[in-house]
Amino acid sequence: MAKVEIERREFVKYSTLGILGLVLGGGIVFSPYPLRAENRLRPPGAVAEKEFLALCIKCGQCLQVCPYHSIKLADIVMGHGVGTPYIDATERGCYACSAVPCVLACPSGALDHSCEKAEDIRMGIAVLAFPESCLALSNTPLPKGYNDPMQQFTDDQYNVTQLERELLEKLAGREGKQCTLCADICPIPNPITAIAMVPDRKGGNRPAIYDGCIGCGACEEVCPASSPAIVVKPRMRYEDYYENKS
Ligand code: SF4
Ligand code: SF4
Ligand code: SF4
Repeated sequence: MAKVEIERREFVKYSTLGILGLVLGGGIVFSPYPLRAENRLRPPGAVAEKEFLALCIKCGQCLQVCPYHSIKLADIVMGHGVGTPYIDATERGCYACSAVPCVLACPSGALDHSCEKAEDIRMGIAVLAFPESCLALSNTPLPKGYNDPMQQFTDDQYNVTQLERELLEKLAGREGKQCTLCADICPIPNPITAIAMVPDRKGGNRPAIYDGCIGCGACEEVCPASSPAIVVKPRMRYEDYYENKS
């Protein structure tokens, strides 16, 4: 190898280490989240991501009025958009309140006030992304403790609401039964326009998604698979995902 090439490599190696040292020494923490920021599930009515980040004043009003504890504020670990509201549907989806109080509470226009009712919400689209994990597809009955993750919201620290208690009741007592949780929890006024259990060609049943889906993430939350079989693709429309699939 020519000397100049070795020197160049050494220079690149040491200057890279130097920069890394400076960054770490300066206390900057690398986070996987900035890259995924555009892909964050935002509350109902959120305008386009770039505009949303510019308009949101990080006041937390949306979060305070949500009766399901669905909204969180991004912390420093999430890097990009610190203090902005988002929904982690693996923990708690949105339950599409009829008057969409989170939007009404937003003073800045980051959540668009033309989103006035559940049917106006368009957060994303649900997708059976991991069919191999779907209990209904493999005819696996619901195991004991299938809805334990939801029980966390009964902790006193959460100041559990009556609406949250009703959610738990709705999903209780299904151990040993066929899983239809995602279809049963869908909170939109006419859920059959969003999701239904249908027979699968290979046996078992599967949730089929229709264009009424608003991407609220309730189905993702209640899916009892160890990692949810059904997930929401933020900001995608039905036609973006399903009509482009062969
Ligand atoms: S619509 Fe209701 S459940 Fe959904 S984020 Fe807004 S306040 Fe929370
Ligand atoms: S199918 Fe899932 S994401 Fe779509 S509206 Fe129903 S619960 Fe929400
Ligand atoms: S909740 Fe829906 S996607 Fe999840 S295992 Fe049950 S049927 Fe399958």
